[in-house]
Amino acid sequence: RRVGLAIVGLGKLSAEELIPAIRTSKHARVAALVTSDLEEGRAFARAFDLTDEDVYAYEDFETLKDRQDVDGVYIVLPNSLHREYTERAARIGKHVLCEKPLSVDAADAQAMVDACRAAGVHLMTAYRCQYTPHHWATRDAVQGGKLGSIKLLDSIHVQVETDPETWRMKLDLAGGGPLPDVGLYSLNILRFVLGTEPEWVFAALRQPTNDPRFREVEESVSFMLSFPGGIIANALTSYGAHKTTTLRVLGEEGSALMEPAFTYTGLSLTLTDKSGQSIPAFDSYDQFGLEVDHFAQRIRDGKTPWTPGEEGVQDHRIMDAIYQSARTGQVVQLEKHAGQDAFR
Ligand code: NAD
Repeated sequence: RRVGLAIVGLGKLSAEELIPAIRTSKHARVAALVTSDLEEGRAFARAFDLTDEDVYAYEDFETLKDRQDVDGVYIVLPNSLHREYTERAARIGKHVLCEKPLSVDAADAQAMVDACRAAGVHLMTAYRCQYTPHHWATRDAVQGGKLGSIKLLDSIHVQVETDPETWRMKLDLAGGGPLPDVGLYSLNILRFVLGTEPEWVFAALRQPTNDPRFREVEESVSFMLSFPGGIIANALTSYGAHKTTTLRVLGEEGSALMEPAFTYTGLSLTLTDKSGQSIPAFDSYDQFGLEVDHFAQRIRDGKTPWTPGEEGVQDHRIMDAIYQSARTGQVVQLEKHAGQDAFR
């Protein structure tokens, strides 16, 4: 049977992307919904071939324990609630797929990893871009030597947020501004394409004092990462600039350009090497479907997911250092990391 998931939180991402994607997934199915608005939940349930009995209030989360057909939960809540629901899921023996960012800082994220390990359940960070053929083709070109020795990378992920009241602008719910929300894509994919960990970071941020949206969180961050071998990566993220997502890798013998690099659909990759330029084509795919299918298969096989909780913790460590660097104006050295292969 397909692996059954309870979707926790019925906001924009769940309603518009995840539930439709999981319905067409090969290995997973939506088995239950957890929400504060039971009426809305039941309307969803009816639209998605579930029954009223499949809809749970947050307070009744623990009753999912008795649902043999619910193997795992997919947490799609504001960032600061990820830890609470991960720990509650671990206590009732359910595997956890958790939206990015894993939490609000490295300590909180590590607590989630520890809770799942102690309970013997899987924890996967929902980094959809690590499951697409486009991002894998970029990684393969970089790590396979097609571009020669890699020198520089840059990445942009910016978009305009207009609502000062959204949880994304509240520090206690979001853990930061555009950095953990959209800048995280640049950070995570820079690490993914290189397959190594940054040694130090240097950053600057801007937080206007006269804009009600940015009372608690920054508007823009620019950060630089230094990777082993003297490779430098620069990234820009903001809630104040028109939607743009890019990734560029510059090697001695070629380059890779993704633009858009992080949108849900329409990703595009241009590879340039000694033999000229190519634009790889792939069969159409749904990023969320690929990610959820991976989680479902790993649950079935009893294997660690490709992007486990530790992957989310590492990004939080780096983001904590980015904020520290921006605050102090100093380069921040990162603790040596055993590398992703250590936890996969
Ligand atoms: P949203 O605001 O649309 O939905 C949030 C949901 O949480 C709503 O159902 C809301 O009712 C519920 N909620 C419970 N307690 C809440 C509280 N105290 N304050 C506000 N809402 C509360 O948000 P979203 O865009 O669906 O984002 C949810 C999560 O998904 C976030 O962690 C976000 O970073 C992540 N996300 C990931 C992607 C991706 O591409 N992977 C895209 C968008 C969002």
